[in-house]
Amino acid sequence: MTTTTDTDTAVRTLHRVFPADQILTDAGSLERYSHDDAEWAEYTAPLAVVLAQSTDDVARVVRWAGEHGVRVVPRGAGTGLSGGANAFPGSVVVSLERMNRVLEVNTDERYAVTQAGVINDALRAEVAKSGLWYPPDPASSAISTIGGNAATNAGGICCVKYGVTRDYVLGLTVVLADGEVVTLGRKTAKGVAGYDLTGLLVGSEGTLGVITEVTVKLLPLSGRDERAVIGFFPSLEAAGTAVAEISRAGIIPAALELIDHTCLVAVDEWQHLGLPGDVDTLLLCRIDERGAAGDELADRVESIFTAAGGTDVERATDPDEITRLFLARRLAYPALERLGPVLTEDICVPRKAVPTMLARIQETTRRHDVTIANIAHAGDGNLHPLIITPVGDEAAKARAKEAFDTIVADCLDLGGTVTGEHGVGLLKLPGLRAELGERVLAMHAAVKNALDPQATLNPGKAF
Ligand SMILES: Cc1cc2nc3c(=O)[nH]c(=O)nc-3n(C[C@H](O)[C@H](O)[C@H](O)COP(=O)(O)OP(=O)(O)OC[C@H]3O[C@@H](n4cnc5c(N)ncnc54)[C@H](O)[C@@H]3O)c2cc1C
Repeated sequence: MTTTTDTDTAVRTLHRVFPADQILTDAGSLERYSHDDAEWAEYTAPLAVVLAQSTDDVARVVRWAGEHGVRVVPRGAGTGLSGGANAFPGSVVVSLERMNRVLEVNTDERYAVTQAGVINDALRAEVAKSGLWYPPDPASSAISTIGGNAATNAGGICCVKYGVTRDYVLGLTVVLADGEVVTLGRKTAKGVAGYDLTGLLVGSEGTLGVITEVTVKLLPLSGRDERAVIGFFPSLEAAGTAVAEISRAGIIPAALELIDHTCLVAVDEWQHLGLPGDVDTLLLCRIDERGAAGDELADRVESIFTAAGGTDVERATDPDEITRLFLARRLAYPALERLGPVLTEDICVPRKAVPTMLARIQETTRRHDVTIANIAHAGDGNLHPLIITPVGDEAAKARAKEAFDTIVADCLDLGGTVTGEHGVGLLKLPGLRAELGERVLAMHAAVKNALDPQATLNPGKAF
């Protein structure tokens, strides 16, 4: 690390490398770029923010950082929920937000090449013009970047059927820790040449390289015929039983999302969508098989919902109605943030363990005297208990932290993992250590050391 005096010198030299409109050093900007959306993880203002406009810009800032002993924190849109993009003393944030062009959409081979700063929804809209579809759809698709999605291996709402980001990343352009630029992966439908370094970089949370371009696989847009089954449940556990039964029956829905009472009320008070306020837990199941096959699946889901205690189980076929219901799911997190700081869990348990895990979360709520709201990509067993504390209540914060640790321990006890999609960042480091064990952590350290021996890129994150 550099000393205070040489950080000043270092930042002065940065001004020789980039024009003034690509460097931010004012206090307001440094605060804005110092953290992601995980309010609980530690952060400090960086020395500067560099707004990269090209792969070459990223390479230059990484080389400059190496020369001056400065650490680099890559950043997309800062919507992360684990502190992965948080700055630390003596670091520089390199933001990819200006690299926001879709470079190629290839309809014959069904892929797109995009700069890392393109927003997920913008990519989907662009490829849709060519009749193509990019499936991974984090609930933050309107605000998060493809580079950030790749760096966290983001999941999303339709991932239960269509897979997560890694399943769609064919190739990457990456700036390595010494500033060299490499291209990884392929554009062909198949390819197994060499180690899967593309797969390694996906989900590496900015610790192994800065992703500047992403080549993604696309699917045809047409052929889906949507219907949704909606069910209201008297408890989280009853809804969890329905989720486990759907999985046991071999049904793979296009989405199976859970929203609890606290979230429904928070969204409705904010957005006035006309959501029911007297419901304990809502399950939304989307089915996109066509015609009779879709109807038959919807019938089976309705029966399972009813058998698990669901009431007012009904089917929606109006696309606007379906969009409105899923909008409530997408808005749940920002709606809760309005109530106070949110400590976000991202556990993933085997689907059969979903009811038990939800029951244990309720027990944790009582035992630690905390408020926990629940949303979930339930069909994947990926649960987001969201612990909300009143602003400025330090005792509640301490209880929330204990509740967080209890939930992680319960998840591991049930054979789960500490993060289903948000990444480890800073928040889940203790849980990860418990999950992986010494030998596997040493393998992580060996990979990091091989690719970034000076620990220039986002050190202290991810493992
Ligand atoms: C309302 C809301 C809903 C969300 N829903 C989901 C969801 O359904 N599924 C899901 O998976 N996540 C979800 N998230 C979390 C978040 O949106 C994702 O983790 C997303 O992938 C982060 O993208 P970003 O561009 O904001 O990245 P950032 O937050 O800026 O960065 C995330 C991590 O990636 C690294 N990084 C970013 N860009 C690059 C790059 N170009 N090269 C190398 N490293 C990079 C950063 O250093 C950091 O470690 C949600 C967040 C919010 C606020």
